[in-house]
Amino acid sequence: MRRLGLLLAPLLLVACESQVPETEATDTAAASDGTEWSNIGFDAKEQRHSPLDQINEENVGELGIAWFKDLPDARGQEATPVMVDGKLYISTAWSKVFAYDAKTGEELWSYDPEVPGEKAVDACCDVVNRGVAISRGKLFFGTIDGRLIALDANTGARLWETQTTDNSKPYTITGAPRVVKNMVMIGNGGAEFGVRGYLSAYDVSDGSMKWRFYTVPNPEGKPDGAASDEIFEKAANKTWGDGNWRESGGGGTVWDSIVYDKDLDQLYFGVGNGNPWNHGVRSGGEGDNLFLSSIVAVNPDTGKYLWHYQATPAETWDYTGTQHIIQAELEIDGQMRKVLYQAPKNGFFFVVDRVDGTLIDANPFVDNINWATGYNLDTGRPIENPEARFYKTGKPFIAIPGALGAHNWHPMSYNPATGLVYIPAQQIPQAYAVQQNDFDKKRERKGFNVGMSMTETLIPDDMAAFKAAVAGTTGRLVAFNPKTGKVEWSHDYPSAWNGGTMTTAGNLVFQGTALGQFKAYTADKGEELLSLDMQSGIVSAPSTYIVDGEQYIAFLTSKGGAFPLAAGIAGGVSRTIPNIPRLVVLKIGGKAELPALPEKSEVVWDPPEQTGTPEQIARGRELYGRNCLVCHGDSAIGNGFTPDLRISGALQSAELWKSIVGDGALKDQGMVGFGDQVSDEGIEAMRHYVIERSHWTKENIADLAVPVVR
Ligand code: CA
Repeated sequence: MRRLGLLLAPLLLVACESQVPETEATDTAAASDGTEWSNIGFDAKEQRHSPLDQINEENVGELGIAWFKDLPDARGQEATPVMVDGKLYISTAWSKVFAYDAKTGEELWSYDPEVPGEKAVDACCDVVNRGVAISRGKLFFGTIDGRLIALDANTGARLWETQTTDNSKPYTITGAPRVVKNMVMIGNGGAEFGVRGYLSAYDVSDGSMKWRFYTVPNPEGKPDGAASDEIFEKAANKTWGDGNWRESGGGGTVWDSIVYDKDLDQLYFGVGNGNPWNHGVRSGGEGDNLFLSSIVAVNPDTGKYLWHYQATPAETWDYTGTQHIIQAELEIDGQMRKVLYQAPKNGFFFVVDRVDGTLIDANPFVDNINWATGYNLDTGRPIENPEARFYKTGKPFIAIPGALGAHNWHPMSYNPATGLVYIPAQQIPQAYAVQQNDFDKKRERKGFNVGMSMTETLIPDDMAAFKAAVAGTTGRLVAFNPKTGKVEWSHDYPSAWNGGTMTTAGNLVFQGTALGQFKAYTADKGEELLSLDMQSGIVSAPSTYIVDGEQYIAFLTSKGGAFPLAAGIAGGVSRTIPNIPRLVVLKIGGKAELPALPEKSEVVWDPPEQTGTPEQIARGRELYGRNCLVCHGDSAIGNGFTPDLRISGALQSAELWKSIVGDGALKDQGMVGFGDQVSDEGIEAMRHYVIERSHWTKENIADLAVPVVR
């Protein structure tokens, strides 16, 4: 019988698909009443608002752990759990997928696409995955090495997979696919290194490509045979000047937001930063560079351009427009308008007309923004601070927000009852400076190619600068009112990079924090009602669902992602919080207890004698900034999950160091060799630099603003 069932299932699916057009799984009653959480953003509108109110402001304080599952990899866990038909699905670091019984936590199946470890070097921001899409018994997800995979959602058996990228280039997939009208939509990442961005639509039944929309011009100036050809020929090509975008690909990756508007039958997606970042180098300082840092609307059936809104023309600060897009209705001058909300990296909250992309309003959602003073609503363009264009002035500029944004990928949520949008905001300043020398100018296959000096962006190696970096780097939960353009209420956090939010009809907003608390606030006033210790930093957003009449809340714990990896000392007090990859499910009266934390081991500072010259150390610092910082931390200050190089045994031996850093002895674990682009002398200079950092830490450890993490 079982065999027969398996044989019949694909036939039934095929029959179904030929008769009924496939739409979001959220069309079911179970999804719209909140019983299920069937899209990563709840439903196609991606408001991350659940109509459930069994857990509410009266009883939320009684939440406890129903069950939890430890996950295999202590790297960033960014996925929102999806619940369909009693099964809870997550994707994890290294693009693995797990399915559990949503009530009991029993693991039903798991799938490991076996991404090669060496692919980690192409991930700007950790080997993360932000979630799966489920539709009609199929589960879709992307992998770090650029594959789109379809599984049977019941069994985890692979149905098909397709390579969506050129793996000789530094493309990755970290975002969740979305299913729209019989197609799976997926983009990719890689704009720090140098790739050409696009969004593709694949047939749900066999993974064949239906259309592709490139977000930046063809480098050879010829048509691609893609859906985007027409608009580039007509309008977008001429927004690019002469510069090295032709060599780099131009960037513009579609690495997160993709949403389908059922009312208007339009597809919206957010486009990332340019490559290189420096607009002067990328495009000769000329042109808006469409469609970088834009929201683009296309016809979902054909991929043909409908409209766009570019929040940051001539992007030069890594101000991506990829952040989460929410669809809503807003009353303006007595009229209900179909709008979308976005709070991208650049610090302004945008209300855009979904019909034609007109900018309705743009207001700051954080303090201290210094690259622009506001927006001209007639032109839709920012009013810039001229000093922010460092490549024009030739002077370094410390921007707020920096490249990690006033809001990064962490999802925001919108509660129709309060009219408020809950944004996981932050302040992480960053220095931008022009290229100083041929080393800065040279493009490399591995490491950032952003057209500026990475050495100049390092925090200066002194205690005062470190303390200033800690003080200036903060987090904030912002409840923003799109109607008034003002912040209604907010909560400050001592560290940046807090988790995504969810809001419910129980007048609640939920958020995990970098300091390891899972918090609930009243949605209208922001009164704190719950703070549960989860042992680990949290970056993901929660979801909620009902099984057998009982409401559950699910989320992942872990630190990870770009900021904890790269921040160094700016991670502040969050550096002392453990990183534990785990799926946690809460319910009222839940009694499960997390295991005791392991004892912290004492860090032993035993650096070898410094034999390098000051010139070697300076050269090592330069190479470290370009090649190592993003994964091992600013100023070689460890992060608690990639190895802390300052205490690495490999420091003791030039031969061992070279075998790892030069020859790639640990490439299967994600540490590739750099010997193909850095000379032996350069590899050794990096060792001298890290030895210098180790001695510095040993001498200054008592003065460090926060403890050293292990
Ligand atoms: Ca970027």
